[in-house]
Amino acid sequence: MQNGEGKSLSDYSEYLRMLDEVYKDVPRVRSTGEWFAIPQLKIEYEGDKSILVNFKEICELFRREPSHIMKFLVRNLATAGYVTDDLKLVLQGHFNEDQIMNLLNRYVSFFVRCQNCGRPDTRLIKKAKVVYMVCEACGAEAPIKTTA
Ligand SMILES: [Zn+2]
Repeated sequence: MQNGEGKSLSDYSEYLRMLDEVYKDVPRVRSTGEWFAIPQLKIEYEGDKSILVNFKEICELFRREPSHIMKFLVRNLATAGYVTDDLKLVLQGHFNEDQIMNLLNRYVSFFVRCQNCGRPDTRLIKKAKVVYMVCEACGAEAPIKTTA
């Protein structure tokens, strides 16, 4: 049999556990202002395709949609490609790490790095068909060129 006190205690620890769950999902804002490093790319070659195995890691680091990064790479490499269910990037043709890394750095300067303060703590929002970059570090909000 449960007394009232026991019940409220367990409710409280349940509440704390839920708070933990909630905070776990909140993206942490990097407060140091330090620039992040793109991890070493893991590329596998299969027939005439290049597979970026750790594409997921890069999407999470950039906090951008995999399809957005994929389209940027495909367009700039003038090839075709797609993202697999487990978030690997498959590119038609052979591309080396330098080629892809150069483009990822360009992507960051166009779509991730705040033009005002240079920090990567940004997100993209769409207003009336225009995409804006909003910086969580300095509050800057600026339209970006989506054709980059
Ligand atoms: Zn900023």
